[in-house]
Amino acid sequence: MTGCSWREEDAPKPQTQPEETIQPPQQTVEPSPSLPQRSPNLPQRDEVQTYEASLAAVGDVLIHSSVYKDAKTEDGYDFKGMFERVKPYIESADLAMANQESMLGGVELGLSDYPRFNGPTEVGDALKDAGFDIINLANNHTLDRGEEAVTNTIRHLDKLGLIYTGAYLSAEDQKRLRTVEKNGITFAFVSYTFGTNGIPVPAGKPYLVNLIEEEKIKSEISEARTQADVVVMNVHFGQEYVNMPNREQKDVAKMAAEAGADIIIGHHPHVLQPMEWIETSRGNQSLVIYSLGNFLAAQEGNRNRTGGILQMQVVKTVKQGNVTIQVQKPAFIPTWISMTNWRKYKIVPLWEAPVNQVSNAGTYMPEIAKHMKQWMPELQVMTK
Ligand SMILES: [Zn+2]
Repeated sequence: MTGCSWREEDAPKPQTQPEETIQPPQQTVEPSPSLPQRSPNLPQRDEVQTYEASLAAVGDVLIHSSVYKDAKTEDGYDFKGMFERVKPYIESADLAMANQESMLGGVELGLSDYPRFNGPTEVGDALKDAGFDIINLANNHTLDRGEEAVTNTIRHLDKLGLIYTGAYLSAEDQKRLRTVEKNGITFAFVSYTFGTNGIPVPAGKPYLVNLIEEEKIKSEISEARTQADVVVMNVHFGQEYVNMPNREQKDVAKMAAEAGADIIIGHHPHVLQPMEWIETSRGNQSLVIYSLGNFLAAQEGNRNRTGGILQMQVVKTVKQGNVTIQVQKPAFIPTWISMTNWRKYKIVPLWEAPVNQVSNAGTYMPEIAKHMKQWMPELQVMTK
């Protein structure tokens, strides 16, 4: 399918089961206590229907020159092997998303490294092969190589059947909300970036990249809420190489949660920043990760080579017409960008990182687990 709003072939499979209490945080639309109670003589229709889908997210895929040189084949590029070891964790999720930080304009535009990146389109094929479904394109590097690199990237992802968000082909394309139905739950995806490294957005073409603009975010999220059960926001923000979110990140996440974003996936700092639940004035809680770090990039040092796969379950409960959405069981698989002398790139679970590549290898895993759990003690960090 070439469209960006698609529907899974498999019909929703509601499971009828007794109501149960699910911990931890939940969004609940409670029936008003003043509503008339159902007569006990009427047929028993108080069943609870639950629908469940799993979601996975990773951070920056930033294709430096040593990464594409390593992927060179006789007749093109092949990045698939780099994702091989983490593929099982991606493809097992019902929906998986990645942040494609550098555009994939292809060789015809000339490949390039920092500060103005352009990578081979074949990165998209590897993302598809690894099991990703949704690709965020709203980044500070979106406009690095101009409009053509953006449109080449989009056309290639679209051809692969991947959903792209945050950068678009036209105003019409930008307006079309990206929704996906999975197991009876409709997800909507929106994306924004803080800026484009000072490169001006071409006049009359604001659809090329979605910027963080409070009113736009609020109206798009509230529109998304009318069309979907769950709103997922990718947001590119924060300060590079800083392990904790800044005031602006906190404010943007809070604003988006208040507007109705259930899940907020942050990236840009190139290092991991922790997660938390944001309580909204409506009494529900949204999950935010402030930065997912680098998933694939050529940067040095422990923190820049560490990323992760965030996993969660989304549960939709329907009872007497009331829909409840809960984000449950957040889990985190820390990952490591393995490479030797800027070659042999491979993303591996952190516990498989070659010890000679990691400083303080003995204490690094617990350090990362502690960092990610600091505001969310129930977060399950996989350590092997
Ligand atoms: Zn960035």
